[in-house]
Amino acid sequence: MSQVQSPLIGITGGLSVNKMGSQVCDVGQAYIFAIQKAGGIPVMIPTGLGEEALAALLPRLDGIMLTGGGDLDPIHYGGEMHPRVYGICPQRDTLETSLLRNALDEHKPILAICRGIQVLNVTLGGSLYEHIEDCVTHALKHDYYPDYPRDKLTHTVSITCGSKLDEIIALDEIRVNSLHHQGIFRVAKGLKATGFAPDGLVEAVEVNNTSFGLGVQWHPECLPDDPCSQALFKAFVEACQQDGQ
Ligand code: MN
Repeated sequence: MSQVQSPLIGITGGLSVNKMGSQVCDVGQAYIFAIQKAGGIPVMIPTGLGEEALAALLPRLDGIMLTGGGDLDPIHYGGEMHPRVYGICPQRDTLETSLLRNALDEHKPILAICRGIQVLNVTLGGSLYEHIEDCVTHALKHDYYPDYPRDKLTHTVSITCGSKLDEIIALDEIRVNSLHHQGIFRVAKGLKATGFAPDGLVEAVEVNNTSFGLGVQWHPECLPDDPCSQALFKAFVEACQQDGQ
């Protein structure tokens, strides 16, 4: 009898400088907890890993999760530098773009959170608002950071009927946290927008023609007590489990 093994989930992170002045690769603990709680084993994919190593690593992973972080360099989507654009990390842009291309080619399950949904959209040819407040008329406030609790529910997301998100959450509308100042402008061709804030901003996308390819603009990992957000991780890890068998 074959034993069912927990799926290995590759998680991307960022680069920062610790108190000792050393540069470190980091992944937020909340992402790690969320994957573990859903039954997966998180595996950190360090920023700076080259193409060859990535190609060797990917077949051993059952799924990929892209996490939140600083902004993508607007050069990747033909955007303009804006004074509020922050935290650009060229190594991370390179790694995540390359990882996503390969993961999409191999139909690996993908969950892309916050910065992740933006990387997903840009990798597939879409574009972003460099700063929502200045780019979208009558936009809601979406940047509830850093002076707010990360689990503060701030706006609703309406979910497209019949979408994967609808299948997972089974509600027309949910309340989410919102910790982003950028957002999706032009949705990439290979994606379908399936979640929207009341101001029309895209809050969720799905990759066409794949078993599990989901991007969300909110931070479900910061909502450990919210059944809808936990259902997302559960569904993702289950998809990874099936992929690995
Ligand atoms: Mn939002």
